[in-house]
Amino acid sequence: MDPALPIEKIAARALSLGASLVGAAHVVTLLASPSHRRYPVDRRVCDARSVLVLALAHDEAKSEMDWWDNRPGRTPGNRRLIKINRKLTKWFRKTYAVEAKELPYHAHQRGVFLKDAAVLAGLGVVGKNNLLVTPEYGPRVRLRALLLDRHLQCTGPLAGFSPCDACKGFCLQACPIEAFAGGAYRHDRCRQQLEKNESDPVVLASPVVGMPTRFKIAYCRLCELACPVGR
Ligand code: SF4
Ligand code: SF4
Repeated sequence: MDPALPIEKIAARALSLGASLVGAAHVVTLLASPSHRRYPVDRRVCDARSVLVLALAHDEAKSEMDWWDNRPGRTPGNRRLIKINRKLTKWFRKTYAVEAKELPYHAHQRGVFLKDAAVLAGLGVVGKNNLLVTPEYGPRVRLRALLLDRHLQCTGPLAGFSPCDACKGFCLQACPIEAFAGGAYRHDRCRQQLEKNESDPVVLASPVVGMPTRFKIAYCRLCELACPVGR
């Protein structure tokens, strides 16, 4: 069997390209996680060895990074992650002669459950707000991943980090639609709020007189922004 590729060098490259956090997990471990056992997994994921997970910090002060538009990639933050992934793919080929495949964002579109992958790669833990909470940036990150047919040194899961244990639950209190009222995250309730956001977009005046006004959707992030971790 080929030796595992060194994660330090790979992480250094990803960070130099603009990623905020980087980690790796074995595909076999990922496939054993509850979400991946419950839902069908694409063949190419099953055949791969490792998943490299990248996080990009989404600072509250730069909220437009997370605004949805009609361009490919949907948000500026996601487009930046895609660009980093593409550069890394070329670098893997040139440096290690290894094919890295960029995974789509959604698991149901032949991707993986990115939150599970990030936890296994040691980037953070799942908080009471049902989001990945990282020590460095709290939940204010967005994720993408690459699939590799070589073993990488695995970097997780994280030990000794459980920020919700001693927290008053600021995220739960911040939700405008009580999506956590029953003690667990309710996607259907959260979806109601997101639909409200869609019907009330951010209006951006065009810098050019006569050009049409642009609209972007700022989805609710209150449970994310209320979290004090990583501030
Ligand atoms: S606000 Fe508190 S309970 Fe909520 S995710 Fe952050 S640390 Fe956990
Ligand atoms: S995104 Fe908004 S509506 Fe959805 S759970 Fe978080 S705070 Fe509630």
